Amino acid sequence: MDAGTRDTFEQRNPSRLSEVTGLFPLSSKEDTVFAIEAAQSAFLKWKALSPFTRAKYLKKVLALMIGRREEIAKIITLENGKIVPDSLGEIDSAIAEMEFQINEGIRVFGETIPVTIDGVFAYTIKEPLGVVSVISPWNFPFNVPVRKIIPALMAGNTCVFKPASLTPQTGYMFTKLFDDAGVPPGVLNMITGSGSIVGNLLVTDPRIKAISFTGSTEVGMGIHKKAAVHATRTQLELGGKNAAVILEDADIELAVKAVARAAFACSGQWCTSTSRVIVVKKVAKEFTDKLVKATKEIIVGDGFDQNAGMGPVCGTDQFENIMRYIEIGKKEGATLLTGGNIIKNNPFEEGCFIEPTIFSNVKPDMKIAQEEIFGPVLSLIPVENLEEAIAVSNGIIYGLSSSVFTNNLKHAMTFINQTEVGFTHVNLMTSLKEPQLPFGGIKESGVGLPEAGKTGIEFFIKYKSVYMKYN
Ligand code: NDP
Repeated sequence: MDAGTRDTFEQRNPSRLSEVTGLFPLSSKEDTVFAIEAAQSAFLKWKALSPFTRAKYLKKVLALMIGRREEIAKIITLENGKIVPDSLGEIDSAIAEMEFQINEGIRVFGETIPVTIDGVFAYTIKEPLGVVSVISPWNFPFNVPVRKIIPALMAGNTCVFKPASLTPQTGYMFTKLFDDAGVPPGVLNMITGSGSIVGNLLVTDPRIKAISFTGSTEVGMGIHKKAAVHATRTQLELGGKNAAVILEDADIELAVKAVARAAFACSGQWCTSTSRVIVVKKVAKEFTDKLVKATKEIIVGDGFDQNAGMGPVCGTDQFENIMRYIEIGKKEGATLLTGGNIIKNNPFEEGCFIEPTIFSNVKPDMKIAQEEIFGPVLSLIPVENLEEAIAVSNGIIYGLSSSVFTNNLKHAMTFINQTEVGFTHVNLMTSLKEPQLPFGGIKESGVGLPEAGKTGIEFFIKYKSVYMKYN
């Protein structure tokens, strides 16, 4: 069913802001209520299906997704700006996550549990929650909805989905797969429009039984408070300020490669991007020289340019915010080693292009070392040793991801045991993830059960204990 509203909003290509990529419904409160009602009326039938039947539907969606991989990747690049190989990589991750979660969804087992009363049989059932809402960001406009919606539906819930206003067409391409695969109407409903209006209703309506959100810590914390009014379950994937720690016994070439990729891929707009490098002074010069050289080799360009290694940042708000942080870094007295400028020469004058930027001599309490910039800006923080590196790495409000680069097993284990994050790495970039493992943060980076892995579906399930007297 189409939106009742006639109001629309524009989306623009971040590589060329004069190019309007589409007009989308600015959904109203009435549209949102309608979507919730549609999900509610589809719930009991969807819940009653065997998980194997639900899996059959979702496997059809998956087959269509694989067939439309390149078409969807183009839309991601058009709306988000990331280079085409990264858009294709996003879809490949989504495919892998979807396969895993469909299989998890047919293995939602209860237990039989012995009780003290003779003639009573007891067991547990795992049931869906009801209607759930999914609010997704623009940085992974395809993979994040897949990561949340597939386990929600496999568990037997129905869903109302709101994509970010910067990437509505990607959201539409995703939702259309379900229509085309013949998934029953009302199982997945999408609304577009303002986060503060339609998004807010998806958080406060008492018919919503769980909210899965990815985005800024500020909005996420607001959602957490509002959800508490109706004791609505939340799964919040929020900001990060992920550190890569380089110790004196590290393989420097390996570390440089991993940091350059995780700091600047998708213009530093992964929630798992490396935004701080905490480097032991003994190897700081060697590491820094090599990293600056690798960074200068990154070709910035339109996401459709085959030579480009980094596209624009996603929209004018992002652009202004990142440039504001670059100015803050200069004022705070950090040393600008490379980048720091807007790229405006032809053909870039109409886009949101920023040079990959590295600051060195950053002090741990500077704003650029503490706050999420969410752009191609890296802060290098020199330290004396592992102990100081761990203290600096943990000395922030966030706790999403981290990495240590070392060839010393004791150092690696010390770091693993003391790093305050949801997931960590040894000799691998901060962004590495696989669908089989939980994905989520601690501290102000995340609330609720992590996505992906076994917890991905667990979030969308409630337990019922059954006692049955048979004798
Ligand atoms: P937001 O947190 O504002 O938006 C994320 C999603 O939430 C969007 O779908 C948005 O809708 C929606 N939303 C906004 N306000 C509300 C609300 N009051 N209630 C319910 N939903 C709402 O992130 P931004 O896009 O504004 O990005 C700002 C910053 O957030 C970035 O610079 C970055 O620091 C961080 N961020 C982190 C991400 C991560 O993966 N950890 C992802 C994206 C952003 P709409 O688009 O319509 O506003």
